[in-house]
Amino acid sequence: MHRRASFFSVFFVVLVFIPASLAAKGGPSPSVPADAPYKNATLPVEERVKDLVGRMTVEEKASMLAGSGWMESMPIERLGIPAIKIADGPLGVRAWYGSSAVTNAANTPKVLSTSFPSGVAMAATWDVDLVQREGQAIAQEVKALGRDMILGPTVNINRVPLWGRNFEGYGEDPYLSGRLGVAYIKGVQGEGVIPSVKHFAANNEEFERHRIDEHIDERTLHEIYLPAFKAAVQEAGVWNVMSAYQKVNGTYCAENSYLLTDILKKEFGFKGFVISDWGSTYSTAPTVNAGMDLEMPGGPPAKAMLSSPRTILSGNSGTWLEGDKVMAEVKAGHISEARLDDNVSRILRVIFLSGIFDHPHTGGELDTPEQRAVALKGATEGIVLLKNAGGLLPLDAAKVKSIAVIGPNAAVARTGGGGSSLVRPKYSIAPLDGIKERAGDGIRVTYALGVAMEGEDPTQDAPEARAKVLREATDAASAADIAVVVVGRYSKLESEGFDVSTMDLPAGQNELITAVEKANPRTIVVLNTGDPVTMTKWIDTTPALLDMWYGGQEGGHALAAILFGDANPSGKLPVSLPKKFEDSPAYGHYPGENLKVDYAEGIYVGYRYYDTKKVEPQFPFGFGLSYTTFEYSDLKPGGNGIAGPSGTWGFNVNVRNTGKRAGAEVVQVYVHDGHSKIDRPVHELKAFKRVELQPGETRSVEFFLDRSAFSYWSPEKKDWVLEPGTFEVQVGASSRDIRLKVPAALN
Ligand code: BGC
Repeated sequence: MHRRASFFSVFFVVLVFIPASLAAKGGPSPSVPADAPYKNATLPVEERVKDLVGRMTVEEKASMLAGSGWMESMPIERLGIPAIKIADGPLGVRAWYGSSAVTNAANTPKVLSTSFPSGVAMAATWDVDLVQREGQAIAQEVKALGRDMILGPTVNINRVPLWGRNFEGYGEDPYLSGRLGVAYIKGVQGEGVIPSVKHFAANNEEFERHRIDEHIDERTLHEIYLPAFKAAVQEAGVWNVMSAYQKVNGTYCAENSYLLTDILKKEFGFKGFVISDWGSTYSTAPTVNAGMDLEMPGGPPAKAMLSSPRTILSGNSGTWLEGDKVMAEVKAGHISEARLDDNVSRILRVIFLSGIFDHPHTGGELDTPEQRAVALKGATEGIVLLKNAGGLLPLDAAKVKSIAVIGPNAAVARTGGGGSSLVRPKYSIAPLDGIKERAGDGIRVTYALGVAMEGEDPTQDAPEARAKVLREATDAASAADIAVVVVGRYSKLESEGFDVSTMDLPAGQNELITAVEKANPRTIVVLNTGDPVTMTKWIDTTPALLDMWYGGQEGGHALAAILFGDANPSGKLPVSLPKKFEDSPAYGHYPGENLKVDYAEGIYVGYRYYDTKKVEPQFPFGFGLSYTTFEYSDLKPGGNGIAGPSGTWGFNVNVRNTGKRAGAEVVQVYVHDGHSKIDRPVHELKAFKRVELQPGETRSVEFFLDRSAFSYWSPEKKDWVLEPGTFEVQVGASSRDIRLKVPAALN
């Protein structure tokens, strides 16, 4: 503990002195008057930026292109430019353990903050308002820690069921990812905290993530991998974008001028700054000229990281944008001062916009009841009821006398996947805790491990030990009214840095499910993973199945609320769950050969593939059951339909809760283009609304589709194209449960 603290002190001192020494290199700098316009908080931001940039030496500008530490940008004391103090995300503020401990400016060895559900769980809520509140809650925690920026949201698409970071993102659909990314960003920026929408672009596998070269055609990029970023820029006005580690079409994302300049800054009109992912730069002038504004990390921590054998092996690179290196390229004429002005203006613009120039972040609280409530609501709304044969769920607390809670994910709260998004909460509720608490004294709750989590405890791996714990589980199951088997992975099996090796559940878990189901036919299986898993060995006979993803610190409470019917399941799959990996469109085009991966499936990602090519998934995109039922009726186009190029095509649909419980339905709108001259998916999600309905209640839900909802990206025209004709607007409860259709004629 003491050694750690002294390291921090030394580190902190180093940080404080870097900028002064760098600034000194430019020789005596003019002093700054107290009433310099840039210091005036009442002036427009652009005026302040211009004034401040005009006062900077070229050396000062160059120095701002690299971080000063692991999680801080370069401050310039002479001008009062603060360092942007960063915290890792996006599923809460990452605990400052291990290498991330160097982010901690306050010399505290660890920070415990609210662990929100994984991104895929939040996506399963389809609750845009809730995700905005999550962004706000996280931003409040960022401020409470005296930080300024959170590294999230992650909006990369789930292309491959095996991607180690699928849990972090919002699933397979670009429209859904865009809606939720925008909401998160609005929540964060509304608090004056800087978000970082990441990873730009197409970071879809961890395999050789520092070397892999992805070949993706322009249409696929625009239709699948870029829309969430575009929405972040154009609808949320996002202040920061993080580039991705890997290469796209032959060039590292960090020095990819097509991505960073042509698309992000010119086509989308991004006005904020681009930050590199940690250790992802490979050159000086090409990186700066491609549109990179800030390289991270910097200073001694960057050097330490880059000299570690593990990092060298994995292919990280960095420290190319240090002030001296940038200056050498400026002097050689490879980087213009106008370019530096643009880089620095972008960083300063955000420093002013976020308010951190005028009001450094202090105060606020971590893990407040409000923040916890958002985590609990997200965990609850995100749970997807996938199967409920014979109405086994919800449990009737008055009738159930005993429950056996079984499985390697039952007694331990597996709150999230591994890597930079893992949050260490103050407390966490395991499924067993949540169920016991809810069951109270009237219901006997027993526990059995059933099978040890793969790789977690080698002493449990011997055949005798395995047989013993399995027997204990089946004994517990047969002695109880109900068995709840919680299976899945955890942060060491599903993580940033590597992909999962198989869609199968970890060792022994399929066998556990089968054995428990034999011992007790009233078995409820609960999945606790971020990635899709194969279920073919048991799904046909399993009576009830819930997907709780990684539910954050409140996962166990949320699960208990769903099991006992205190909450009605309303989660819908943000990702198709294929039967087996071989069915996935990326199969055969992953992980690539000779460090190249061809996105040969093109735009046919997720349901775009399964529905068009008629490959039946285990559970389709958008699917999720409820304890009540909903009926759709009266789909009526509103007004005169689309009115000219800037108009929208509006319609109403009635949704009625026909059951006996209050519940929420996610009404999904897909567009089918039957007259297209080019190849298009059979349908694409273009709108949705989550509607809460009391029993018997009917609501008229209104939608407006703009022209983009009907268009495809044309590589020839380099633009979105709407082919005039009659489209079909479909309304349904999943991509494979279309309830109503209506023609929409557009020109
Ligand atoms: C991850 C980023 C993360 C960064 C800082 C990288 O390895 O890809 O998502 O924000 O590290 O920890």
